Amino acid sequence: MDYVSTRGRAPALDFAGVTLAGLASDGGLYVPRTWPRFTHEEIEAFAGLPYAELAARVMQPFVAGSLSAERLRELTAEAYGRFAHAAVTPLVQLDEQNWLLELFHGPTLAFKDVALQLLGLLFEEFLERSGRNLTIVGATSGDTGSAAIDAVAGRAGVQVFMLHPKGRVSDVQRRQMTTVLAPNIHNIALEDASFDDAQAIVKKMFADATMTDRFAIGAVNSINWARLMAQVVYYFAAALQLGAPHRPVAFSVPTGNFGDVFAGYVAAQMGLPIARLIVATNVNDILHRALSAGDYSAGEVTPTAAPSMDIQVSSNFERLLFDVGGRDGIALAGQMAGFEATRAMRLTNAQREGAAALFSSARADAAHMARAMRWAWDDAGQVIDPHTAIGLHAARASGLAPQVPVVTLATAHPAKFPAAVERATGQCPPLPARVGDLFGREERVTDLPGSYEAVAAYVAAHAEPKGKAGRT
Ligand SMILES: *Cc1c(COP(=O)(O)O)cnc(C)c1O
Repeated sequence: MDYVSTRGRAPALDFAGVTLAGLASDGGLYVPRTWPRFTHEEIEAFAGLPYAELAARVMQPFVAGSLSAERLRELTAEAYGRFAHAAVTPLVQLDEQNWLLELFHGPTLAFKDVALQLLGLLFEEFLERSGRNLTIVGATSGDTGSAAIDAVAGRAGVQVFMLHPKGRVSDVQRRQMTTVLAPNIHNIALEDASFDDAQAIVKKMFADATMTDRFAIGAVNSINWARLMAQVVYYFAAALQLGAPHRPVAFSVPTGNFGDVFAGYVAAQMGLPIARLIVATNVNDILHRALSAGDYSAGEVTPTAAPSMDIQVSSNFERLLFDVGGRDGIALAGQMAGFEATRAMRLTNAQREGAAALFSSARADAAHMARAMRWAWDDAGQVIDPHTAIGLHAARASGLAPQVPVVTLATAHPAKFPAAVERATGQCPPLPARVGDLFGREERVTDLPGSYEAVAAYVAAHAEPKGKAGRT
């Protein structure tokens, strides 16, 4: 399998290449040249497989040429062996139509672990082969940072510089990052910055030759293809349990950077019968406006009780625009340059129609979110987190026919956001024992001004040069 950039000018790379590269050199994102497709019979035969085995089967076409089927199976067994639930991503029924897919049984209590536990192992595998050092530079709205740090702490050849907007992540989220004291982990709190500002700094570093000449800069954000690939698996796992491929299933996905829901789109391209993908946003609703009215224009970020979705610029939306817009990288590069200059663009008719075939969208404000948390507790006995509540609100408002099961992705454990959960439900969710005494541990974090120059200087002073093999 080889991978092409959404902006048409970067060289095609194999799976190992895209895993280490992160962003393409033309500023685009890598996507597979073609979508592998399973037959109805092949999907039928996946039913009942253990999660790690299903993961190896679903991902095999994407890693072909870089990993053997056997090696991939070893890596998925190791990655998913660290989850606290034997089913890895269990399904819970809420009512006749609605289900929760619990994606928070990994070490840092959010769905990001599903992809990052595997990505940490992939980095180690590919770096060992090449003899290179990798400098991960990432931006986090809270959950990517902790999941990436857990996955990479203490691993050889990798250093992590994780930027978070100071004061805009929850205490649990911050402590999950800053209490990891391994020498290859650097936490940076950006002053007076939003997640979008942090993400823009990261993207700028990929385009800065003075940095990329010295350091092999890699990504753990969902701009990294391997993350999306790992997330495709749980769409298969959930749909198979609900009767796929004989019965189509809908998914409601609390969305920020459009990575998780794009993985659902990939599952559909691979042949999984998906009735609908519901993009659920909070009041930071650029994706809702884009999908419902064709208006992709970024406003100011409003902080909410669902901070991992407080995003205005959704990186992975570019992958969808590329695929539904005829895969014309040069045209898309022009469209994205326009967006970068003005922070606004209109979707083309082809992009709007292509997206509308599978996606719908909904926006939840604070009252909708609280009501969904209360409904889940009062009517279904489930304590859910604010992000999941936004998805559940959208699922229950979707108007889908009653025979179509609707799976809301439960993206975080409620104990990550106890204040908002308690306000809405009166329940104070306890932290699971596996995260330990988070509030008793020492924190280590560096405060920096929210400017590119300050971050680049810090990384240059602390990172390891790329090493003997050079940048591929
Ligand atoms: C990251 C995150 C999201 C948003 O996922 P995207 O892939 O960025 O759309 C939603 N909920 C939680 C809890 C998250 O951590």
